[in-house]
Amino acid sequence: MGKQYKPETICIQSGWQPKKGEPRVLPIYQSTTFRYENSDQMGRLFDLEEAGYFYTRLQNPTNDAVAAKITELEGGIAGMLTSSGQAANYYAIFNICEAGDHFVCSNSLYGGTFNLFGTTMKKQGISCTFVDPDASDEEIEAAFLPNTKALFAETISNPSLVVLDIERFAGIAHRHGVPLIIDNTFATPINCRPFEWGADIVTHSTTKYMDGHAMSVGGAIIDSGNFDWMAHKEKFKGLTEPDESYHGIVYAEKFGKMAFIQKATAQLMRDLGSIQSPQNAFLLNVGLETLHLRVPRHCENAQKVAEYLNSHEKAAWVNYAGLSDNKYHKLALKYMPNGTCGVVSFGLKGGRDVSVQFMDKLKLAAIVTHVADARTCVLHPASHTHRQMTEEQLLEAGVAPDLIRFSVGIENVEDIIADLGQALAAI
Ligand SMILES: *Cc1c(COP(=O)(O)O)cnc(C)c1O
Repeated sequence: MGKQYKPETICIQSGWQPKKGEPRVLPIYQSTTFRYENSDQMGRLFDLEEAGYFYTRLQNPTNDAVAAKITELEGGIAGMLTSSGQAANYYAIFNICEAGDHFVCSNSLYGGTFNLFGTTMKKQGISCTFVDPDASDEEIEAAFLPNTKALFAETISNPSLVVLDIERFAGIAHRHGVPLIIDNTFATPINCRPFEWGADIVTHSTTKYMDGHAMSVGGAIIDSGNFDWMAHKEKFKGLTEPDESYHGIVYAEKFGKMAFIQKATAQLMRDLGSIQSPQNAFLLNVGLETLHLRVPRHCENAQKVAEYLNSHEKAAWVNYAGLSDNKYHKLALKYMPNGTCGVVSFGLKGGRDVSVQFMDKLKLAAIVTHVADARTCVLHPASHTHRQMTEEQLLEAGVAPDLIRFSVGIENVEDIIADLGQALAAI
């Protein structure tokens, strides 16, 4: 599809482009493998001389159609689906970092990503320095080392809801000759397209708003094509030097701007195999077809919920960038003028125990380890997703011990507020 279409049209029409007599709706290519007419054709695929499908561990047409839609929504040039958001963030870093390398990451981060970067990848010899996203340029730049290969942050952090100054982060990354990788899960490309502000690579947990119905876990990686790997040849040897496992091809030479995704597919997917199932990709595509309708409704409802809580006597604090007194309101207006996300966080007077009691009183809003879906849901990160963190790490990650993460759905907002009201009255 051409770049002339607006996001609403892309959500509906992009990705699957049937030719004569083909199904109108994206088919599920429920096949592990693909047929060729002779041995030479297949050989050329294995040499990366020709593009084509051979095995669903690496690539599948259903997935690629959906990845193409997300790529277009983000304004990128290449994209791929992964089995989860965790896999997307892992691949995005591991595609350019190897044992002995280092990257810098905002400390306002999803708990799973914090574990992955801070603990699991460390065991693979890849180290990460966490920085305060609100620190000065000088403080953040002090974290860069000669072996630093990337800067990573979330557009709106889960669950601390810090809005990132993307342009500033892009400037810092580029001054140090590394790409800025942005996890754009909470904002979605409906509210923010990080490439327009200088980000180089975007990742998603498609499990959240993109799927939107809490049906399928998935992830995506999208490349803007803007980062010049060859200009920093020494740093990104995996892209700029021969890959012996592919007869010595050099990804950045052979694939140019497509190098990042090509390498992640041909090498990481081949070897690690965290691909999204075509069935889940199909469901994700159904979700994407209404993303442009759901996201504004989430934001509208969340704004009303945040205003209600903000004026409630039992609330100790409310964090939502849409509130005019919020620390991130100005940044939100710059990067997300149409709204941020449907997630509101708050604490209650009386602290952690009262927060937990309150949650148990909710009737409509369910306690689930999920966020950003059509149904209103709620979670206490200190007791759930961020349970493994010490009190000190929690505060560093911007997760107050009493923080309630309230994910506002797309029900009638009066019913959501009534549920909050009865639970608040009961504590
Ligand atoms: C949920 C989430 C992830 C992890 O995604 P999964 O699909 O659960 O693996 C990563 N980043 C953010 C911001 C998330 O909210």
